[in-house]
Amino acid sequence: MGRCIGCYNCMFACARTLYGVLSIGKSAIQIRTQGGIEGNFIVVTCRGCLDPQCAKACKVGALKPRKGGGVLLDKEKCTGCGECSVACLIGAITMDPETKKPIVCVHCGACTRFCPHNVLSLEKVEVLV
Ligand code: SF4
Ligand code: SF4
Repeated sequence: MGRCIGCYNCMFACARTLYGVLSIGKSAIQIRTQGGIEGNFIVVTCRGCLDPQCAKACKVGALKPRKGGGVLLDKEKCTGCGECSVACLIGAITMDPETKKPIVCVHCGACTRFCPHNVLSLEKVEVLV
């Protein structure tokens, strides 16, 4: 993360992929500063949990565990209650203020391709049981 310069390219790439807009408010990946304006940048994004707490918190079944990790959102079922956003311990789900629905990572890897400093990568995790 030391190479991140906070250009937000990853956030723009995400918003364009998910919603076809260039707006960092519509991104499923968040770049935040740590320790004030001169602090380092941190990335907050879905870690692809295999037993996702966000899906467990959804009382209407709008979030389902995704094969390989993370979740899939059924926008029709979603009531916009925000419980999934609260349940994610790392704060990876933000609510879209326009649609009132969660902005959910689809693990497409667009953010990794548009980072000019190769800060991000998408990795397949092998589960050993
Ligand atoms: S949004 Fe949070 S709780 Fe849900 S799968 Fe991703 S990291 Fe896990
Ligand atoms: S905001 Fe939507 S997806 Fe999230 S818990 Fe509420 S109904 Fe489920």
